[in-house]
Amino acid sequence: MTAKFNNNSNPTLSEDYRPLELEKEIRSFWQQNYIQQKLEENRLKQNKGILGYVEGPPTLNGVPHVGHARGRVMKDLRYRLKTMQGYYIPFWAGWDTQGLPVELEVEKLLNVKNKRELLEKVGMEKFVEECKKAIIKYHKEWVAADQKLGVFINHDKAYWTYHDSYIEREWQILKHAWNQGLLEEGHYVVAYCPGCQTSLSSAEVGYEGAYKIVEDPSLYFKFKRSDTENEYFLIWTTMPFTLITDTMLAVNPEAEYAKVQVGNEKWILAKQRVQPVMQELQVHEYRVTETVTGKDLEGTGYEYPFKDLIPEQAEIEKKHLLIHKVILEDFVDVDTATGVVHQSPGNGEEDFFAAQKRNVPIYAPFDDEVKFTKEAGTFIGKFARDTDSIVVEELKKRNLLVQCKTIEHEYPTCWRSHHKLFWLARKEYFLRTDRINNKVLEAAEKVNYYYESPKNRFISFLKESKPWCISRERVWGAPLPIWKCQKCSHKSLIASKQELLEKATEKQPEDFELHKPWVDRVILKCEKCGGTMRREDFVLDAWHNSGAAPYARFTDEEYKKYVPVDYLTEAMDQTRGWANTLLLEHVILTQKPESPYEAFLLQGLTQDAKGRKMSKSLGNVIEANTTLEKHSADVFRFYVLRKCPPADPNDFDIQELNRRPYQVLSTLYHLSRFTLQNAEFDNFNPQDHSLEWARNGRHFKPVDRWLLSKLQETTETCTEKLETCQFNFALAALEDFVIESLSRLYVPMVRKELWTDDPHTLERRLAVYSTLYHALKTVNSLFNPTTPYLSEALHQRVFKKLDPTLVETVNLESWPESDTQLRDLVLEDNFETLFKAVSLAYAARQAGKLKRRWPLGKAVVVSPEEARETLSRNECLFLEISNVKTAEWVGTPPESVKGQEWVSASEGDLSVYLNIQRDEKLLGEGIMRDLARRVQALRKERGYRPTDVLEAAHIADLDDEYTRLLQPYLDEMAELVRARKVYLHSSRSEIKIQWYDSQLGEKRIAISIH
Ligand SMILES: [Zn+2]
Ligand SMILES: [Zn+2]
Repeated sequence: MTAKFNNNSNPTLSEDYRPLELEKEIRSFWQQNYIQQKLEENRLKQNKGILGYVEGPPTLNGVPHVGHARGRVMKDLRYRLKTMQGYYIPFWAGWDTQGLPVELEVEKLLNVKNKRELLEKVGMEKFVEECKKAIIKYHKEWVAADQKLGVFINHDKAYWTYHDSYIEREWQILKHAWNQGLLEEGHYVVAYCPGCQTSLSSAEVGYEGAYKIVEDPSLYFKFKRSDTENEYFLIWTTMPFTLITDTMLAVNPEAEYAKVQVGNEKWILAKQRVQPVMQELQVHEYRVTETVTGKDLEGTGYEYPFKDLIPEQAEIEKKHLLIHKVILEDFVDVDTATGVVHQSPGNGEEDFFAAQKRNVPIYAPFDDEVKFTKEAGTFIGKFARDTDSIVVEELKKRNLLVQCKTIEHEYPTCWRSHHKLFWLARKEYFLRTDRINNKVLEAAEKVNYYYESPKNRFISFLKESKPWCISRERVWGAPLPIWKCQKCSHKSLIASKQELLEKATEKQPEDFELHKPWVDRVILKCEKCGGTMRREDFVLDAWHNSGAAPYARFTDEEYKKYVPVDYLTEAMDQTRGWANTLLLEHVILTQKPESPYEAFLLQGLTQDAKGRKMSKSLGNVIEANTTLEKHSADVFRFYVLRKCPPADPNDFDIQELNRRPYQVLSTLYHLSRFTLQNAEFDNFNPQDHSLEWARNGRHFKPVDRWLLSKLQETTETCTEKLETCQFNFALAALEDFVIESLSRLYVPMVRKELWTDDPHTLERRLAVYSTLYHALKTVNSLFNPTTPYLSEALHQRVFKKLDPTLVETVNLESWPESDTQLRDLVLEDNFETLFKAVSLAYAARQAGKLKRRWPLGKAVVVSPEEARETLSRNECLFLEISNVKTAEWVGTPPESVKGQEWVSASEGDLSVYLNIQRDEKLLGEGIMRDLARRVQALRKERGYRPTDVLEAAHIADLDDEYTRLLQPYLDEMAELVRARKVYLHSSRSEIKIQWYDSQLGEKRIAISIH
């Protein structure tokens, strides 16, 4: 063997594309050469603009799964794209570290059941310490995933939402709200989770997956109308325990109500509900005796039945005229149930407002575990939902039970712990974001969301415009910085640690931090009355904590420079989460209808291969780190971006990774390797043999100009689709260019020109290398935001090898721009016609069972005149790729092609006829090509490079007929397989040599190369 290939520089590209190994090598190249740092420093010094960025902080309560990884890839894609375009981005990490999700995770680790047990058994200091430990543990997992994924986010500059410096700035946002009168304590009905023992914001109640099908009682009962013998209000509920907190009945003022005679009783219910309800209750004998309007019932009293069990109910009846009376409310729906709704202002939002506007006292006798307090009489100490059956029993005793069944219905549960939520009237702190809703909506309308449906979902959510309950009855969170005078109730908001320590009546210890319990120990002196001020015992909603990031994670100077940021992307479930709280807090901070982000891409959720949500209970969560240990990051990145639009749910199927995505990247790899090996063989130098050199020297053929034209189109499409977050279409364009234009079309059209080492055609070969080099290098840059490892590897080991003057890393390359000079639409059209004719030729072959490798004698191509001209101009290419010796170009099919020796295929007005008859020459050439293919395969298997020239190739065990047919083609075959000579042997025993078994059609043959 003569090795003409210069094996001078390491490292090289291995024979096969083995991405996992390659990525490991590139990772250490990046680390050893500080590539990530250099990129950031370089763009900081020299840029064409600054684009802000605020990391949507992952919550450190679990390990990242493939859905998280997909999100991080989208962030990194944008970073690499924009830095290649010359922008500086502070692509700095951030971590969400506090709040319920973290607390629950740590409670699980500590094996405690609830908050009470936690405080009794563990204590606050220890708990806070454990929370910090847990965060660090998960942080490691996230950093590891980022490293494997090749995400160039700066971890050294990460923000942590629990740091005092961060919390202080969050407090400053609250101060703005305070000064504008938007932060206030209020008595409201809030959603409350008995498991987490804290209230939730209305945004959290609407979380995806929060509504679950649950079983509840379906209870029909009656309350006796006061001062009547036998009239009853018929009422329906699914929450019997709320009868304990019942204080009024509501009817619709406009609706008609009927009195229905049932036995010797009269039941009052909405007239239009009589028939369905009686059917439901299986009451067959009944009669409407009278109808009245809702208005007529106003002020009517009813006998609250449990006064003996709950003395407080008797007490409050005396306090207000409307207690245990009928009120009129428009919200009462007469299309369902009975149209008479019992009111528990302590347990329902509408009920609460109905009571509040009438100044009816709110009766809400619950503790933090949603157990009844002593105000609930005999029900004291019982968990609310456990009293459902007791209430039903008591109704039965009093002959007030009509029917009790079980129903399944959708009911909101806690998004963290899945407990059924309660609606409870509680004292909480609220941000009155409802009062600035106009500004919020105006700001939201200005944002680019790229896709319609996420935008609509966001805007319609914002329109709900409820006050934001920001207080939480938990431990591990940013503390609410409000101190209240125990004497005169004066309140004061503290906005920094320094201010707090200065105002504290006692010196605080060394380890003081802005967390419970330390912060609770700070006592201030009331400026109004000199009394003692204590902190209001709440922590802040963790969404408020992370929503402060655009302000809290930066210094004042940075904030001015980077906010508003031009682009953010997070998962769809952040619609009610971070996207929302960022916006609200920014409007509060600036008092302007301004969003902290100009564009926000909301990503569809990642589901399992069957389209089911990934969840711990289904056991179908795929962890990022374990996946990336076994699978290539580049292939993963390409796959998740290519599969579907980013806003769509992504059904992640690990089986799919190593199919098409691998194939595309592998093709790019092998094309680059092929180019390198051939180009090095001919001493190609991109500096000397540039596109200009080839053009000026007239070394280009139409096929090269066609490829360069397609490259411009690809560059343009890819860039446009990346900019508009249609990543799947951007990658489809790249895939098409690599697989179709380069691999399937261009290379086969020029491969034969590269086979020779004839010095007379060297310049032509150099022009082909120039085309390939330029196309591949450009496409490699376009791939970099998606497949950073492969792009870096090819940059280092192919392009930089051919041109050592290239920049140190592919990331410092400029983003390719399409060159209109190189675009030629007419030429593209012509080639399109050519390829159509070729594919028809292939189809005709398939019909005649003729392998593509078998040369055929003649093709007749029928087409309209214009196409005919184009096609005949490219006759050489047509003959070359369709492997036919001659072609005839006609307008109508001649008689001759109608015989049996012809096969054909057509599409539209284009038809291709192939003559299937093969004479000895064609048969001989066909055998030669079949054999050459086998020798090529053996070359590859034995590790020869395409440029290596073999001493000899030996073929044995061919029969006489084949030997005779093959004889005239031995020289051509030698050239084709890059061997000095090809020898035929009648039997393998003729020569002592290492033989390899092979197959030619049905025949067993032997091949040897050396
Ligand atoms: Zn919960
Ligand atoms: Zn005071």
